[in-house]
Amino acid sequence: MASLKMLFGTAGIPGSSKKRDSVSGIKRVKELGLQAMELEFVRGVNMGEATAKEVGKTAKEEDIVLSVHAPYYINLNSSEKAKLVASKKRILDSARIGEIAGAKIVTFHPAYFQKQDKKEVLEKVTNVIEELVKYVEEQGWKIKLAPETTGKASQLGSLKETIYMCRKVKGLLPMVDFSHLHARDNGRFKERKDFEKAIEEIPEKFRKMLYMHASGIRFSAKGERNHLDFEEEGNSFRYKWLLEALHKKKVSGRIICESPDIEGGALLMQKYWKKL
Ligand SMILES: [Zn+2]
Repeated sequence: MASLKMLFGTAGIPGSSKKRDSVSGIKRVKELGLQAMELEFVRGVNMGEATAKEVGKTAKEEDIVLSVHAPYYINLNSSEKAKLVASKKRILDSARIGEIAGAKIVTFHPAYFQKQDKKEVLEKVTNVIEELVKYVEEQGWKIKLAPETTGKASQLGSLKETIYMCRKVKGLLPMVDFSHLHARDNGRFKERKDFEKAIEEIPEKFRKMLYMHASGIRFSAKGERNHLDFEEEGNSFRYKWLLEALHKKKVSGRIICESPDIEGGALLMQKYWKKL
């Protein structure tokens, strides 16, 4: 089992980091004994190229792997040209800055259905993403785009849709947010086997280096409401089952914790993983 490798990290700068900048955040991640950090550009790509270089240098020195979360305000299915253009730009700006920082992937929530035919939306968005992947490759960037499984049924991003896009577009990687899947499917993971089934839907080639998000989560019939800590009341997402299933299915990869206590959750997962 020595070949199994799982890295754990935080969605953004750890809460316990004294300074609220990414360089300090990376150093804190290292101190905590974690291995990964996601740069959160969720409210806009507000990192300049000079900072990105410094962030990349620090991550290399500290041996912390980086990923990027693109802004939330993205809809690759928008019928308004200006919104579509702005959405593409947010992804590409995230990729450009992420590339400078040496991040491996940029993840994003691809689109809203807006009551349109789901298959048509999927096709349309897949084509737009293919264009973006081509652009990234033409720039010679190594960073990969990774659409995320989303938390609401109104958003494109079921596991099936995400895998469909990643099979169709070469170089595209899935970002599997298991907590989102739990919420969008109204409590999908009722036992460990349900996690195993979801993992089986993911093609083997992605399971060797799978990018994942996990957190406690509260949901309603419409899906995700808010993230919770794993041990908080109201959470029915069982991270231990997820880890057991990943271990059983011999998945390697990275898990970024998006619970409110980002480092607490990441450390809980890491501790349990080591016991398996
Ligand atoms: Zn996300």
